[in-house]
Amino acid sequence: MKSRLNPIYLLVGWVCLYVPIASAQTNSLDPRTALPSACIAPSEQTGGLDFTADSSYLRLGSAGNETYASIDGERMKHLVEQQAEIARRYRQADNQYWGRIIGTSADRETAEWMMDQLRQSGAEDVRLDSIALPTQWFPQSWQLTVESDGEATELASAWPAYGSVGTSQAGAKLELIDVGLGMATDFQGRDVSGKAVVIHSIATSSTVFNSARRIGALERAERLGAAAIFLVLELPGNLQTAFYDVGTSVPTFSIGSEDAALLQRLLTDAATTEPVEIDVQLDVDYIDGLSTSSVRGEVPAASPDAEKIIIVAHRDAYFEGAADNASGVATALELMRYFAQIPKAERKRTVEIIGTPGHHNIARTGFSWLYENRESILDKAVLLINAEHTAHALIDRFNDELCTTNTMGPFSWQINGSNKLAEVTLQTFDEFGITRWAETGGPVGEIRTIADLVPSIVLMHAGVLLHTNIETTEAIPAASLAATTRAYAKIIEQVNSMSQSELTQ
Ligand SMILES: [Zn+2]
Repeated sequence: MKSRLNPIYLLVGWVCLYVPIASAQTNSLDPRTALPSACIAPSEQTGGLDFTADSSYLRLGSAGNETYASIDGERMKHLVEQQAEIARRYRQADNQYWGRIIGTSADRETAEWMMDQLRQSGAEDVRLDSIALPTQWFPQSWQLTVESDGEATELASAWPAYGSVGTSQAGAKLELIDVGLGMATDFQGRDVSGKAVVIHSIATSSTVFNSARRIGALERAERLGAAAIFLVLELPGNLQTAFYDVGTSVPTFSIGSEDAALLQRLLTDAATTEPVEIDVQLDVDYIDGLSTSSVRGEVPAASPDAEKIIIVAHRDAYFEGAADNASGVATALELMRYFAQIPKAERKRTVEIIGTPGHHNIARTGFSWLYENRESILDKAVLLINAEHTAHALIDRFNDELCTTNTMGPFSWQINGSNKLAEVTLQTFDEFGITRWAETGGPVGEIRTIADLVPSIVLMHAGVLLHTNIETTEAIPAASLAATTRAYAKIIEQVNSMSQSELTQ
């Protein structure tokens, strides 16, 4: 996957460049030129990002929490990698649209794998609830092709927005037009009718939150007659990005910044009288009769009437989905392993895990399944934890590149419950060095339909790599998995010495 320049080449390049004028210094090369750069514009040519070694991440935890050392970041990272492998296998089975997609063999494989892991962790009553799915959207194949320098060039980053309508089998040849950010003024004096409209969007964090969504640029393009829409999330490189349902009724794709720059060049090079055309092909199937599932298990308390603590982790993902949500699944599994090792007589409350289907589809199956079954799921529940995007490396942006760092976080968070629950939770996050927003906020994720019904905790990250093809296992530091999961274990133990009314009032 990594094909970026080897530091040795940089060194050789430096020597070639400087020898004629600095021959006296050939024995005293500047070692900085031999160090790899942390920054890169990720594309098919460069592969993904190069992350620092797991051992190099800063650890900010305070002393006194050695008892949680058995919660193992390396083991969890291995669980993340196994889920990434399921997604890659699905891709290799000739699925252009890939991930751990709800209703597919990758979904079933993830459920089986999770049940197996739960049994190994010592959880009991491991079971699977089958969930019937409404009609599911499945793009079978797609292609965007332009003529560049006399050759047909395929836009390698093209990815259909979730739920986009397809084209006819033959596809469509459309005239291209670029309307910048897609603000009302960007459309003034432009005729987009019947054309393929390129809209650039500022990531205000990612595919979920971005400027085109905020200003209604896609709706505007469609209202003015666009025949297709290409959304460019302006991130460095040529990323594939998977948007949720964008609500359009014309073929809608995301394309990466490099592919968008090529279109820009074709449009600016072309004579004003000569249209630039693009071939758009998207073959979509709508499939009935599919099913998904929830995976459940528990570490029972000493008393069969005990109250419960519930950990939810959604299983689905676009692409490898290492943070979203292989990390959360790994956290939930490791917590079950940790609590299963506590002698049953000492367990005050039952800890239950639910691996839900997730929400990367139009039906948002996980949201509705949790809501429809809220009474039975939340029966006797005193705390609900959403294990979602629980670990990640901090990525910075510099100029045309993304830069990896030796830091994890930051995370957004939301707590529903008493001041005491909030205090205990934030204090524990701090003890384990989890960098977080100063104020509450951010997404609630999979538990959004039930988060307000019982005391609940959400700690998550929805950053620049979310729903992209470079959110890979390497982006998940073992130390970040360990920090979050250890913090949750300690929070659960502290909550176990609090009554239900102390958690709610
Ligand atoms: Zn998620």
